[in-house]
Amino acid sequence: MAKKGEQKCSFCGKQKVDTLILIAGIDGHICESCVEQAHEIVDGEINQNKGDKGIKTETFSLPENATPASIKLYLDQFVIGQNDAKRYLAVSVYNHFKRLNQKSVDDVEIEKSNILLVGETGTGKTLLAKTIAKFLNVPFAIVDATVFTEAGYVGEDVESMLVRLLAVCDYNVAAAEQGIVYIDEIDKIARRADNPSITRDVSGEGVQQALLKILEGAEVNVPPQGGRKHPEQALIKVNTHNILFICGGAFAGIDKVISRRMNTQVIGYANDVKEKVDKENLLQYVNQHDVKKFGLIPELIGRLPVLTYLEPLNKETLVRILTEPKNAIMKQYTKLFKLEGVTLTFEEDVLDHVAEKALEFKLGARGLRSIIEAILIDVMFDIPSDKSITEFNVDMDFALKQLSKAKLSKLKAA
Ligand code: ADP
Repeated sequence: MAKKGEQKCSFCGKQKVDTLILIAGIDGHICESCVEQAHEIVDGEINQNKGDKGIKTETFSLPENATPASIKLYLDQFVIGQNDAKRYLAVSVYNHFKRLNQKSVDDVEIEKSNILLVGETGTGKTLLAKTIAKFLNVPFAIVDATVFTEAGYVGEDVESMLVRLLAVCDYNVAAAEQGIVYIDEIDKIARRADNPSITRDVSGEGVQQALLKILEGAEVNVPPQGGRKHPEQALIKVNTHNILFICGGAFAGIDKVISRRMNTQVIGYANDVKEKVDKENLLQYVNQHDVKKFGLIPELIGRLPVLTYLEPLNKETLVRILTEPKNAIMKQYTKLFKLEGVTLTFEEDVLDHVAEKALEFKLGARGLRSIIEAILIDVMFDIPSDKSITEFNVDMDFALKQLSKAKLSKLKAA
């Protein structure tokens, strides 16, 4: 064994006296600077491997002990109401992960549980999808179905949605392959029976057809820049087998389809069946036939086996949305004012009035922020230059005055 005075780093040869730390191994030593260099080399190698396509660097799984009930509890912190949609979403996501982690030995293959959310605009469809992705900590992309056209036509190919997903995870293919894509406005690619086009229906049925294989699960060649303008670029292969697709749409007018179906259905049944129908919220009865009647092709509906709906938001829900979620609009404004040293308060009737205005503008919860902004804009302009203000209470008189000044009519839905 070497004498104490002779110890040196087996990598760079530095004597012990010249090092800060010399770590002993079985047959040698390593100094602190060689440890650092080795660490950099290892880091570099690992990162390079991560960039390589197809190498699985991570597998996402449900947070420990997660159950559908705990997923719903998480959603409750951010999304008000929508209990049915939350339960469906929680169960689908839970089953999705069970499916991903199954070590299948038999012939039973659990199919993907892509989801279709039907609900008016601004009722929380995107918020639900976003929140569930946050809970799972998986890559998440939102795409708009209206930008897609059939391959060969002006517009985006459906494959471009995978580019978005790749972009949010730095082109880590393995991560993207376990992500969630929210496809908004899926109703806008419905087949129209009265389509005036005598040529092909480039933005409707053709796009639905193109979506089929992506939704079901396939190896898709994705141009990294998204467009078709760079034919020379190398394609990235993405397998969509484990990507969860959540589609959402307002399906304006589907209530009439539902109502017609239900009216025919109840014929011949006892009257009490008819009485139970809640005419104010027909979406709760939506089924696959209604969606088909609306113009989604059966093959696409088949690839979205979980169908659920969102409730229309009423005044009470809108007031809760203003105040209750973790990052509720009122909490955000209170915090903004606090940062200026001002305590902001709102009288209750003002919040009711804001909710009524949002209903009037038919923007769902989306209108709430603009209305609050209109009420507070002048105060927010003045406060930073007037340090004497330490509290500000918004009462009805003030709110009405501000709202009459603001050009609120521009908020109205077209
Ligand atoms: P859409 O149904 O059109 O996808 P979004 O999810 O984009 O609607 O909702 C628009 C905004 O309204 C969200 O950012 C959110 O702040 C708010 N919002 C809508 N519904 C809810 C809800 N149920 N709970 C909490 N906030 C909501």
